[in-house]
Amino acid sequence: MFFIDEMKKIIREKDIQNLGIFVDMDGVIADYRFGEGKNILNNVSGVYRDKRPIGATIEVLKELNREIKCRMHILSSCYHSEQIKEKNDWLNEYASFFELENRIIVMSNTFENRKKLKIDRMIEMMQKFNYDYVVLIDDTHDILFLAIETLHEKVIPFHVITLLD
Ligand SMILES: [Mg+2]
Repeated sequence: MFFIDEMKKIIREKDIQNLGIFVDMDGVIADYRFGEGKNILNNVSGVYRDKRPIGATIEVLKELNREIKCRMHILSSCYHSEQIKEKNDWLNEYASFFELENRIIVMSNTFENRKKLKIDRMIEMMQKFNYDYVVLIDDTHDILFLAIETLHEKVIPFHVITLLD
């Protein structure tokens, strides 16, 4: 798998000892259907629980978890507290290798604010687990750019497409 080889190369080149990996959900491991934002804002029941899992990216991440020494986090956001449970139930079913204590699901009532909230939580985890580097995998360019602005060379950003062979 391209991504696994790429990660091994980066770990070797940067001599990474303690790596944290942060994975977004919607548009990365769960389908994102264009226009569904209004259902999320309106707290429509099942909006997250019934999402289609993206088997190809989930398999790559599962393999990454087996192949390299790292801690795998979920870094996701939602708008209503009920949606946190939906996301956790979904993860338990489709991607349970993300352990409950390593899942970060921030609550935000605007689409803009959530990017900063997610980066702030990533920094918190960096300090808590003493990571020397973090990998951020997301489908939104804005948050990848914000991560670089905030963490500079300590973050290794990937757009979701790089996971695919
Ligand atoms: Mg996303």
